Amino acid sequence: MDLWLKEGQISDAVMTYKIKETLVTKQTEYQNLAIVDTYALGRMLVLDGIVQTTINDEYVYHEMIAHIPLFTHPNPKKVLVVGGGDGGAIREILKHPSIEKAVLCEIDEDVVNECKKYLPEISCALDDARCEVFIGDGIKYVHEHKNEFDVIIVDSTDPFGAAEGLFGGSFYKEIYECLTEDGIFIAQTETPFYLPDVVKRVYDDAKATFPITKLFMAAIPTYPSGYWSFTVGSKKHDPENANVPENLSFETKYYTPRLHKASFVLPKFVEELLK
Ligand code: SAM
Repeated sequence: MDLWLKEGQISDAVMTYKIKETLVTKQTEYQNLAIVDTYALGRMLVLDGIVQTTINDEYVYHEMIAHIPLFTHPNPKKVLVVGGGDGGAIREILKHPSIEKAVLCEIDEDVVNECKKYLPEISCALDDARCEVFIGDGIKYVHEHKNEFDVIIVDSTDPFGAAEGLFGGSFYKEIYECLTEDGIFIAQTETPFYLPDVVKRVYDDAKATFPITKLFMAAIPTYPSGYWSFTVGSKKHDPENANVPENLSFETKYYTPRLHKASFVLPKFVEELLK
């Protein structure tokens, strides 16, 4: 029998994946969680029917969300990830030798536990001594920690349900307070093809809070349209003109110093959207 996953983030367009095996499917306190093995992209984490990450293309998202801010900050020591329970962002963060502590604040403990069990390639660094896994709401955590983190990465689900409050001006003001004096924030901010209003709103909200706000794009096959945006808000350091070392001290598959700069060069329709 053929089993197919129909991913439905965008109401008028779907992606379908032929399933090899269903490893887990359960209702957690916050969402429906599934981990399935697919022919096209390997194992994938699916939350409320929306694909979050897959073994075959996760490196694009996790490398870009971690290395762009970490190579922009001159000496990042303490990093906070809000969401990101699969552990992929933490794995990339801990490749940077300057990091002393990386806190993962994930609301849903089941995401962390199931990813540790079924997606070890992605979650492998969650037991590193420099990583603290805190189970709780990122909005509360950020509110309760001031002037503490050099980099904050918002690796969240889409702006609905528990993640709704992770997008927007009032949260960005809290993030600003939670960052150190030259801190940098980054968030995944959806696709300008299908969700231009969300991209524009989030960019404008970040711009109203941070002296430097830049948007960059990456090609991620898993996400609707395959063309995904990230927004960076920075107090002092410009991510587009970062002093990235020419030779990296660790392996990457997508991120390179040249791509770091090039990813901020936007197509005309995105430039116009942000005007
Ligand atoms: N890379 C993914 C994407 O863009 O599709 C995001 C992956 S990560 C699994 C997203 C995580 O954010 C989920 O595990 C979800 O439970 C978590 N999350 C949602 N709202 C949250 C909140 N308010 N505080 C902390 N974590 C939250």
